[in-house]
Amino acid sequence: MNFNTNFNNIAESYLFAEVARRASAYSAAHPEKKVLKLGIGDVTLPLAPAVIKALHSAVDDMSKKETFQGYGPYEGYDFLRESIQRYYLSRGVKLDLSEIFVSDGAKSDLGNILDIFSAENTVLVPDPVYPVYVDTNVMAGRKILYANATKENGFLPMPDYSVNADIIYICSPNNPTGAAYSERQLKEWVDYANAKNAVILYDAAYECFIEEEGLARSILGIDGARTCAIEFCSFSKTAGFTGTRCGYTVIPQELKKDGNSANKMWLRRQSTKFNGVPYIVQKGAAAVFTEEGYAQILKNIAYYKRNAKIIAEAMDSLSISYTGGKNSPYIWLQCPDGMKSWDFFDLLLEKAQVVGTPGAGFGVNGEGCFRLTAFASEEVTLEAVSRIKSLLSK
Ligand code: PLP
Repeated sequence: MNFNTNFNNIAESYLFAEVARRASAYSAAHPEKKVLKLGIGDVTLPLAPAVIKALHSAVDDMSKKETFQGYGPYEGYDFLRESIQRYYLSRGVKLDLSEIFVSDGAKSDLGNILDIFSAENTVLVPDPVYPVYVDTNVMAGRKILYANATKENGFLPMPDYSVNADIIYICSPNNPTGAAYSERQLKEWVDYANAKNAVILYDAAYECFIEEEGLARSILGIDGARTCAIEFCSFSKTAGFTGTRCGYTVIPQELKKDGNSANKMWLRRQSTKFNGVPYIVQKGAAAVFTEEGYAQILKNIAYYKRNAKIIAEAMDSLSISYTGGKNSPYIWLQCPDGMKSWDFFDLLLEKAQVVGTPGAGFGVNGEGCFRLTAFASEEVTLEAVSRIKSLLSK
């Protein structure tokens, strides 16, 4: 037996584990201090009442012989896939039902999708970005290239035709930078991918935070995307499903090469290695797209966006430059006085008892940057911002 030694190439300490370690070490040493967490991107508001009602009713279904459900379809129940289809249509994107696959979340699918692609492919990943794209490809031994996201390009790198990539990751609105591509910019990526015979793995986990006109909510609405893009989406941030677990992936039928269809290969992959998302959870997810459920989740998103605004206004008042905060729950700021990310992390923790996430953990270009999230309660956000302001305005 030999292990997959590619695992030796993954950075040992996962970013959030190190953040949590330093925060708990501080709390253990200073039990009297209240530490405020604007670090990990987990939601804090409970599930919407319409979702809870649907979950309860689905539990009741499981208690009766007539409505009990055993194994479900690998690709998800039609009732949920049809509601996702209608959601896309309401934004002008027409999908065939066969193109929608329900899963237990975007993270699993983003990792698992690599099963259908050759290990020989070269991968292009923005830097900085959500660490999962890099780590899953390192595990598989793929060659990784980076597209530099910097302050100069607004953290939105554009295609470079001198770079040859086969698998391109785009995350918009981006975690961690909060920057979001316009439809016009995404069209350039779509043209590049089609020209290079590449696939774009488009992570739209934060699409529901977009408010500005002209920013893309889905890559699949862009002309030419159906031959080159796969879209990953999640109920986690849309509807507070981080602990309930549900997401979906859309694979257009036109995404084909040499007689192989990405859609058919994914169905084959899922039916071999995955036995579906619980019926109860899918019923809860379907409630998100009812009129009542959607109105409720929009209220929750508005709550997080108010927090984002509170943080963004504090940065404005401190003359700290940042991206995000408007079409995203993340505020990505430049550490003051040219500080390094982990030094700023320690300063905020020790002097203000506020936990954020050091940008360096998201990639080389994240050094000198810092991520704050809008997912805490309003009280915690206000208190954290007031502490940051009094620390940094001294
Ligand atoms: N994609 C991005 C960009 C994320 O930030 C996250 C979670 O933080 C995910 C995917 C994971 O989503 P899920 O909870 O659906 O697995």
